[in-house]
Amino acid sequence: KEESKLDLISRCIRPFPDFPSEGILFRDICPIMKSPAALTAVIDLFEQHVLECHPVVDLIVGIDARGFLFGPLLAQRLGVGFVMVRKKGKLPGPTVSVAYTLEYGTAEAEVQEDSVSPGQKVILIDDLLATGGTLFAACELMKKLRAEVLGCLVVVSLKDLSGADKLKPHTVFPLIQFC
Ligand code: AMP
Repeated sequence: KEESKLDLISRCIRPFPDFPSEGILFRDICPIMKSPAALTAVIDLFEQHVLECHPVVDLIVGIDARGFLFGPLLAQRLGVGFVMVRKKGKLPGPTVSVAYTLEYGTAEAEVQEDSVSPGQKVILIDDLLATGGTLFAACELMKKLRAEVLGCLVVVSLKDLSGADKLKPHTVFPLIQFC
């Protein structure tokens, strides 16, 4: 049954060569959002993993922007709150931020200072893990707020880019892996 959920999700991920720039094979998850069954399967599998591996969770923390598609649905299933890690300049009030490197140049991730309390147990979620730079920055933000990161969830992991190594000792749970 679970295999069929994974099959359903896999069939909803489309490869686009050379997007957004030459040499990048973009994994498009938009078809998941168009399929209620595939979207439900994603949340089912994440929920099952969290219930099994992290029975006590305080918050789901989603990464700008596609982490926002899955995070709130999972948080509602689990009966916990959802927090946004955003690109710099989008959040009002006191924030903490951290700079990180992208393939070209740098970016900054930001979170509201009062979004997570010290000691709260959080799970990070994004659509895709590539080099791990983005989720690593989010982990750094959680560290600044003295939250406890239980782990990271992604729909897709590109394992040749070794993002999971970069995130150690934090664990990553991917639904689908590509080379
Ligand atoms: P990284 O920080 O290198 O792990 O990149 C992860 C972020 O960039 C995620 O938020 C993804 O949405 C996006 N991303 C990176 N590479 C790809 C790709 N090949 N296909 C789709 N999204 C990607």
